[in-house]
Amino acid sequence: MPILSDEVQRYLHGLRPQRSEVMREMEALAERDRIPIVHWETGRFLAVLARAVDPVMVLEVGTAIGYSTLHIAEALGRGRIVTIERDPERVEQARGFLEAAGVADKVEIVHGNALEAIGDMSGPFDFIFLDASKDEYRRYLELAEPKATERAVLVIDNVLMSGSVAFPDDAEVPDEFGGWWGLEQRRAARALNSELIDSERWLGSVLPIGDGVAFAVKR
Ligand code: SAH
Ligand code: MG
Repeated sequence: MPILSDEVQRYLHGLRPQRSEVMREMEALAERDRIPIVHWETGRFLAVLARAVDPVMVLEVGTAIGYSTLHIAEALGRGRIVTIERDPERVEQARGFLEAAGVADKVEIVHGNALEAIGDMSGPFDFIFLDASKDEYRRYLELAEPKATERAVLVIDNVLMSGSVAFPDDAEVPDEFGGWWGLEQRRAARALNSELIDSERWLGSVLPIGDGVAFAVKR
């Protein structure tokens, strides 16, 4: 939670607009069943990017119930989004919500393990959003990168892990800074963040939006 101070966080929450009925239902279900959907601010950021980039084909890794998918799909112009989810119950839930929201024709949900599914896809992708297993991020990226267009943008969620990535390995991370994130996950996020910032292939940034978002574009 406190990547930002409580005051700033409260202010940002107060800025959130009224959501559509479907989006409200998704948020309520996620809250009830503790499904880790993106913060609304991250969803809006994805939507703004989708509108700005006007991608032909978006790749999303980690659909859950389709909340981030919906933010992106609503903002798409000509484009489509392919989204991968391995949990069959989540695939069904996402399907229902995306149909109810009227964007099903822009979305293809692929049921499977992303580590296999990405390799089977042809792309090309001009917008990539990673939000599945945090310790697999690097492998998703390795699989997706050859299928990215020359001007592709990349967004990765949860790269600050409630602030816990800022703590040294041997520190006891307080609960309010995401003490529940495992050491391996924190290490993976830190490695990925510095790799993206130092990369010769990506021009990368790490932004304190939501739970921390890496945002990069091909160099
Ligand atoms: N992007 C969604 C939230 C995704 S939560 C949103 O913001 O609305 C992460 C999801 O990734 C979970 O539903 C989990 O089942 C899925 N997942 C994790 N590892 C995966 C893998 N290797 N292949 C496919 N899906 C995976
Ligand atoms: Mg996430």
